[in-house]
Amino acid sequence: MEKLQAVRGTRDLYGQDKLKMKKVIEVGSKVVERYGFEEIETPVFEFTEVFARNIGETTDIVTKEMYSFEKGGDHLTLRPEGTAGVVRAFVSNGMHRQLPLKAYYYGPMFRYERPQKGRYRQLTQFGAELLGVESPQVDVEVIAMAYNFLEDLGLTGKVTVEINSLGDEESRKAYREKLVSYLRGYYDKLSEDSKNRLEKNPLRVLDSKEECDKEIVANAPLYRDSWNESSRGFFEEVIKGLDNLGIKYVINDRLVRGLDYYNHTVFELTTDKLGSQGTVLAGGRYNGLVQQMGGGDVAGIGWAGGVDRLAMLIDEDVFVERPVALIPTGDDVDAKALVIAYNLRKAGIKVEHSYSGSFKKRFEKANKVNACKAIILGSDELRNNEVVIKDLDSGEQKTVALDKLIEELR
Ligand code: ATP
Ligand code: MG
Repeated sequence: MEKLQAVRGTRDLYGQDKLKMKKVIEVGSKVVERYGFEEIETPVFEFTEVFARNIGETTDIVTKEMYSFEKGGDHLTLRPEGTAGVVRAFVSNGMHRQLPLKAYYYGPMFRYERPQKGRYRQLTQFGAELLGVESPQVDVEVIAMAYNFLEDLGLTGKVTVEINSLGDEESRKAYREKLVSYLRGYYDKLSEDSKNRLEKNPLRVLDSKEECDKEIVANAPLYRDSWNESSRGFFEEVIKGLDNLGIKYVINDRLVRGLDYYNHTVFELTTDKLGSQGTVLAGGRYNGLVQQMGGGDVAGIGWAGGVDRLAMLIDEDVFVERPVALIPTGDDVDAKALVIAYNLRKAGIKVEHSYSGSFKKRFEKANKVNACKAIILGSDELRNNEVVIKDLDSGEQKTVALDKLIEELR
């Protein structure tokens, strides 16, 4: 039989890779909880329309990347991102009394993309959403929170905060008109995808990854020239706030983000360490989304970090607690060894129990699991209710009474 393989674009995570992913989530949870965010878990699949309508009919995610299927007459989709599900949960559960709502989540997302380093078909995101506050102060705090997250992961030297504003609806509309008339002048040179986007959703062209589009986009009108007074004012408040916190950023006029629901502030935290998969965290304000999903006029802002990519940026091995190794020697000690291992573990001590092999082999194994101490259980010593503890770093060795063992190891 042919050897079974994981599906292309999916991975088995174990060892340091898994530890790093877990660490990213642990650090993220701690940071966002300091800002008052609480964990939410929404289903991994939803009705297709939750994503199709709200992420945007012409986005890459909806047109190409969704894993959709039919079951029991329902059209369902594995979630490609977290925001739509969180907002759907907010609306379904009538959580309006709890405004502002601060929710964070993490878990697998699914996108049918071309797999490469840092780009998977099952990916993990850690994200945060804040609903119900329109003030630019919140934009500052939410970006600061993302920055703290990467700081606590030890990554700030490796990342840049890029920021832009799409303005309010009026500004968006004005920009759209300017952009369309500019792009029409280059119609023949645009990629097929971008030709299609031109009518339906021209902003998407700015986000295109095709070389032929990128050249044209380089000279496209700037968003900032279409901001109205209040949009400009809003953005200036955000920038001022970041300045006050000492958070460095780069204003990127080309930043529009791949999803339809954004307005005002958009931002990305990028690195030059992961080749073309350099964006490690991205987000923005989405004031119209809750309304669009039937939940009333509730402002929103949020971001999602790519846990796979963040984990790849952690250089050092994640520290794992060193165990003590239990080494029984002699035929009649196995039963007692099980009892001792059980009691040590109940007392909170991490124990590696070596079940078989020569004395030498068991010591080799203790070193392999990076044990700090070996507890040698010999028949003679056990008869006197004693064991030998060997410090595997210094080589020092001593005999202790069995009932003092836990105390000795603490
Ligand atoms: P990209 O432009 O790289 O496709 P995106 O705009 O589609 O990214 P978002 O939807 O903003 O990405 O997702 C937030 C973060 O999730 C990204 O910044 C990235 O770190 C991560 N991410 C997105 N897609 C993938 C993927 N296929 N594999 C691994 N990480 C991903
Ligand atoms: Mg993408």
